[in-house]
Formats: sequence, structure tokens, C-alpha cells
Amino acid sequence: MEFCWGCGGKLEIIKDRPYHYRECGLDNVYLHGIIQYRCPECGEEAPEIPELKELHLLIAKELVCKGELMEGAEIRFLRKELRLKSKEMAELLSITPETYSRWENSREIISEGSDSQLRYLYILNAEDKAGRVLHEGIRFARSLASKKSTRKIRNGRKIEDRKPVKIDISISEWVMPHTEPIFTEECY
Ligand SMILES: [Zn+2]
Repeated sequence: MEFCWGCGGKLEIIKDRPYHYRECGLDNVYLHGIIQYRCPECGEEAPEIPELKELHLLIAKELVCKGELMEGAEIRFLRKELRLKSKEMAELLSITPETYSRWENSREIISEGSDSQLRYLYILNAEDKAGRVLHEGIRFARSLASKKSTRKIRNGRKIEDRKPVKIDISISEWVMPHTEPIFTEECY
């Protein structure tokens, strides 16, 4: 039996409700199959999320493999995963901090070149951190590049019309260690 860290009441265990994972900084991520605790006394709630690193890798995969230019919150998510400050990110993308800040704050749409570069940067670093092969090399790069035209067309829409699709991830997808590369040609 677990007790509430706030009021000491007995906690309820909830297993059948998707968890809206706002803490990751994106507003469209839902986790399935995890345990959540809720205090009926004071309403305090907390999820139990194992293997955060693997989960974040899967969330990042959704963004890296997206067939559309990334939005502000997504750009920020990848930067944070890279553990970089905005200024450092701007430097790596060879743009001014002001431009970068407009992209991250959704005041301007990211350039195509920087969008691709950011995806590659993420994959490189993720692989280095994970210590295992995560991508199919040039095959993946080709499929990423081939989506460029699609990204451009969709980019014709206004910033406020761009609504990210819901990302549903089930616990079984991230708690099992992946031995196969996750950034593959079939990624899209
Ligand atoms: Zn409580």
C-alpha cells in the first residue's frame, strides 16, 4: 500500500487510463499501460514511468520521422534531449539566436535545412548516448531526404493551422530493449 506524499491518505492505483504526458513539453503525448497513483483525499496524482530514456527516444522518433517541418515545442523537445542551450543550438545550426528563438516559440516556421540538420544531430547524439546502433545509416538518410518535398508542401499552411497529431505510446513499446535500429526506412 502506498501513501500520499501530500496528506498521508491511502493512494488509489489506476491502471486503465492513458496518461497525458505533459511533463515532456509536448501537448500531444499519451502513455498507455502505466500505473498511476491518485489520492482520493486531496486529489494528488502521479504516474509511475519506468525507463524514461527509452520512452524519450520513442517520442523523439515520432518527431524525427515526421513528414512535416517541426513545430516550436518539438524543436524545443529535441534541443532539451540534446542538453543544449538555445544559444548553443543556434550555433550548431549556424543561425542567429534570435532566429532560433522565433522557431522555438512558434513565431516563425523553421527552415528546411535546419529542420533536417536538427534531426540528424538528434540521431547522432542519441546513438552515442545509447551505445547501440539506432539508425540504418545512409538508407535512413535517403528516406529522410526524400520526404523533403512533402514537408515543403505541407509547410504552405499557416503556423496556427498546424496541429500536431496525437502520439500514443504503449509501455510495452519502450520497456523492452530494442536490438534493431529504430530509425529505419520504414520509419515514416
Ligand atoms: Zn493526499
